[in-house]
Amino acid sequence: MGAKIIPVKIGSGEKKLLILRERSLEILARLKRLYPDATCSLNYSTPVQLLVATILSAQCTDERVNKVTPALFGKFPDAESLAIADLVELENLVRSTGFYRNKAKNIQAACRMIVTEFNSVVPNQMEQLLKLPGVARKTANVVLAHAYGINAGVTVDTHVKRLSGRLGVTEHTDPVRIEQDLMGLLPQPDWENWSIRLIYHGRAICKARSPVCIACELADLCPTANKPVVVG
Ligand code: SF4
Repeated sequence: MGAKIIPVKIGSGEKKLLILRERSLEILARLKRLYPDATCSLNYSTPVQLLVATILSAQCTDERVNKVTPALFGKFPDAESLAIADLVELENLVRSTGFYRNKAKNIQAACRMIVTEFNSVVPNQMEQLLKLPGVARKTANVVLAHAYGINAGVTVDTHVKRLSGRLGVTEHTDPVRIEQDLMGLLPQPDWENWSIRLIYHGRAICKARSPVCIACELADLCPTANKPVVVG
């Protein structure tokens, strides 16, 4: 005799969450079809270089970062050399990425800590990464996912923030709250898949000022499709 199925009553909040989860999974499936080879667009060869490139990418495009890193990593390829680099030289090498004084200072301080406290190896745990100067959850998530293949959280950059809001999968604007919402909706192995593909979609279709809803393959799942743009 088959097992008796006991009907489970769920409240309206849970029902809403289930619907939202289903919609998120359909969005994810389409993003995977649309951008099958999506990967981190920063150029790097080691975890330290990825960490540095990600720090540089704050308020800057990956394209611009990729223009400065060949000279930077040519001169200072690892944590040891970055830790003792002349700060003014470092600033000049990263100047065109903006906020260069702060970025150079953080890169050097992070590399010093990597050398002195982590045996010159970028840590592979969120808690330890967050101790590094200039490293918040976004940078830590990128490093863990792309250098170590660890899905510890969901990377929330400006594209992920904008698109997750437009797609109605979060009502929050604070990146930490958005990340918590997304972690509750998506399967852990897909956390970085979601971010990286939303970034591609944000660059190609759902641009900040002019989303091309007419060409968007997520339009039927998107509550803000063809609505006036809210930039934020
Ligand atoms: S339908 Fe428009 S607003 Fe929604 S994800 Fe697509 S481009 Fe963005």
